[in-house]
Amino acid sequence: MSQLSAWDHPEPLALATAPLPEYGTGSLADLLPTLAAGMGVPGTTAAITELAPVDRACVFLVDGLGWEQLRAHPDEAPFLTSLLASSRGGTGRPLTAGYPATTATSLASVGTGLPPGAHGLPGYTVRDPATGALMNQLRWQPYTDPRAWQPYPTVFQLAHEAGVHAAQVSSPTFQHTPLTKVALSGGTFHGRLSGEERMDLAAGQLAAGDRSLVYTYYAELDGAGHRYGVASDTWRGQLMYVDRLAQRLAEQLPPRSALYVTADHGMIDVPFDEEHRFDFDTDWELSAGVALLGGEGRARHVYAVPGAENDVLTCWREVLGEQFWVASRDEAIEAGWFGPHVDERVYARLGDVVAAAYDDVLIIASEREPKESALVGNHGSMTPVEQLVPLLEVRS
Ligand SMILES: [Zn+2]
Repeated sequence: MSQLSAWDHPEPLALATAPLPEYGTGSLADLLPTLAAGMGVPGTTAAITELAPVDRACVFLVDGLGWEQLRAHPDEAPFLTSLLASSRGGTGRPLTAGYPATTATSLASVGTGLPPGAHGLPGYTVRDPATGALMNQLRWQPYTDPRAWQPYPTVFQLAHEAGVHAAQVSSPTFQHTPLTKVALSGGTFHGRLSGEERMDLAAGQLAAGDRSLVYTYYAELDGAGHRYGVASDTWRGQLMYVDRLAQRLAEQLPPRSALYVTADHGMIDVPFDEEHRFDFDTDWELSAGVALLGGEGRARHVYAVPGAENDVLTCWREVLGEQFWVASRDEAIEAGWFGPHVDERVYARLGDVVAAAYDDVLIIASEREPKESALVGNHGSMTPVEQLVPLLEVRS
């Protein structure tokens, strides 16, 4: 086929070409169950077979630290770079975040040990089938009962019930949020403002039990990437700080323990022009027949006006199909984007059409999402740059 005829008859991206998260063998959801299984916690499975059991495990989750961004900045992260060879038990491989690669979804995957199709936080914003309105999963707005939304116990709860010392060390801001409740509850939450205090406290919590499962978190690398871009001076400064934090924690590990540095997703910069940013709010083709636009720029849930589902799918595929994987809800479920199984209560939270970016492009919404539409760095889709996250190991 000549170049010209390919241009005349654009082929939508085949859904089979989307690189799926490694649910069940090497995704974020597999990390805590693997660590807990190594401590003998009932109801957990060691899915990541490269990780040797350890009595005390601490997970340090750095928001937005993608595997590819870390690999590209060895000078800013000498300590983390020195750990790359130990990644995934020495195989030098990353984990996959899960779809979509976004904070609320990934934190729920980490804490529950379940893929998004089961824990039910499958996007930045999704439709609440009970109200028909969009719900922001990160801010938990509008409020809905967290226990009904995500009914499974967290791995911390399972560990706590099994006599393992479980603790979370994060910003005090997150102590009482519904997202913390559904994703991270079990054991005790310790709020500390500075990164250094969190590292020191995490090391202390690790030493507090014969068997311990500790989680700690740092947010600001992600914020720097969103505002200024990956590889901006601010982002690189944050990476240097994160590197020092990880080393500080590693140097305080008590005996029989391991530190795992990981992340919730990577990030990609998207140019500010109309070829890279499709504006849903001014594009009559994309907005025709759409009742609600959910998700985020690189991972959209599109909720159609009843009866318009097929028209919306056809149109989105025609307009965006060369640069996005565009699937119907059932196609995305069938392909396993949200995990091997989607719970019945989660089904209607997913878009009638699901669009995942392949190129460095976004579907912004300049009027309904002015803040999000102005971000430089973005994430959400299945490309390696946003999907792959490190799993770096330090053992005492
Ligand atoms: Zn983010």
